[in-house]
Amino acid sequence: MVQRQKRLTKRERKTQNPGTHEHQAQHIHCIACGRHLDPEEFQAVPPTGIVITCQHGSQFPACRGCEMEARSRVAEHDRTGQPPRVAGAWH
Ligand SMILES: [Zn+2]
Ligand SMILES: [Zn+2]
Ligand SMILES: [Zn+2]
Repeated sequence: MVQRQKRLTKRERKTQNPGTHEHQAQHIHCIACGRHLDPEEFQAVPPTGIVITCQHGSQFPACRGCEMEARSRVAEHDRTGQPPRVAGAWH
């Protein structure tokens, strides 16, 4: 019985992570410059929007042009465990 409860807790934790992603999918902004990104930009050829996944599995969107800056911010987040520095959103 104790084992069953532990399994449920793990599952609950796992389903909480994609929740963050869902929120981002509705309104996406580049973490490096704050520019608004449309979902189509990730599917465009070539894509003008990219998604960087950190070592914990969180996903951070960025412009293609901001890839270097965004990657260094995510790398810093992975190194320090602090939330990555995210630029203020604008439209
Ligand atoms: Zn950007
Ligand atoms: Zn927006
Ligand atoms: Zn992370």
